[in-house]
Amino acid sequence: MNLKLLFITILSAGMTCMAQDMNNVQFPHMQKTSARKEIRIPNILGFQTLKCDFHMHTIFSDGVVWPTVRVTEAWEEGLDAIAITDHIENNPSKKFVTGDHNASFDIAISEADEKNIILIHAGEVTRDMPPGHLNALFLNDVNPLDTASPIDALMAAKKQGAFIIWNHPGWKAQQPDTCLWMPMHQELFEKGLINGIEVFNEQEYYPVVLDWCLNRKIAVISNSDIHDVTAHFYDIENGKHRPMTLVFAKDRSQQSIKEAMFENRTLAYFDNKLAGKKELLEAIFKASVSASPTGKTDGENRELYEVSNISAIPFIVENMKGQTVTVPAESTIVLPLNLADYQELTIRNCYTGSNSVLHVNMP
Ligand SMILES: [Zn+2]
Ligand SMILES: [Zn+2]
Repeated sequence: MNLKLLFITILSAGMTCMAQDMNNVQFPHMQKTSARKEIRIPNILGFQTLKCDFHMHTIFSDGVVWPTVRVTEAWEEGLDAIAITDHIENNPSKKFVTGDHNASFDIAISEADEKNIILIHAGEVTRDMPPGHLNALFLNDVNPLDTASPIDALMAAKKQGAFIIWNHPGWKAQQPDTCLWMPMHQELFEKGLINGIEVFNEQEYYPVVLDWCLNRKIAVISNSDIHDVTAHFYDIENGKHRPMTLVFAKDRSQQSIKEAMFENRTLAYFDNKLAGKKELLEAIFKASVSASPTGKTDGENRELYEVSNISAIPFIVENMKGQTVTVPAESTIVLPLNLADYQELTIRNCYTGSNSVLHVNMP
């Protein structure tokens, strides 16, 4: 480098320094980019598969977050629809926040519209057992549900066309030993005041409730009931997810979600497990997993197949000899398959009852 060039280099370096704003320097690369993690679960039977969480809290009951945070979390975690369900009868923050039972919905709705998250207007009727806690969804106004008797609250919800979910029936604080369907639940059910029941809640599973739902044709529901920030409670960064309800809807709209729920087209999804009606489980499995011959053989002259899973749910598949293989999510594996052993499959992580799993016949 000649002296003249060195001089120019030093001068321009000096000028770069001088050009720096001495009052406010921005480091935008330090800010996290808000990104949505898509959950790929195929559409089935002509319906769209929507990922929903119908149970969560904000500071307008005993949650710790502002309502708009629930929308951002849902968007980032790949959900399509949520219901904010603050307790009607329990608001420990009342001293610090004002607002009626519609406040959390009113605050979150514009954020939801902007992010294309379907926000369902809802509230949680919070009573001793029986009947326990029930979420009323698709309300216009939560305030009329603030009544002395729980039946009156649910009747007020029904008047607005609500879909009513019995929450966490096996929660040990209310049913310490056995999860019971009590006479009052029978009465509510007969009055059309129990339309869905949570099979998964927060980090719990109630196997007996899956049987209740299937025997009585009640929609299976899986909800987070999150009070904390979701990423504080669930290990989202490491690929874990909150409980969610898969709703099979005609289109991605609130009206179609409601219709699908009343028509019992839901599956409960949590911890890589699916629970619900056999037809829906079978359709999801068959739309997700496929096998095709590679035309090659292994060292023992067995035909090799590519087995692909296009969904976010890994499937644990057992063949007729009791051999088990996990087909990982959104992956392809190569396996030697003797097709005769795979005419009937048992899908270990698809629950069709408290004590039964999905069996599928392969064509
Ligand atoms: Zn509850
Ligand atoms: Zn709750």
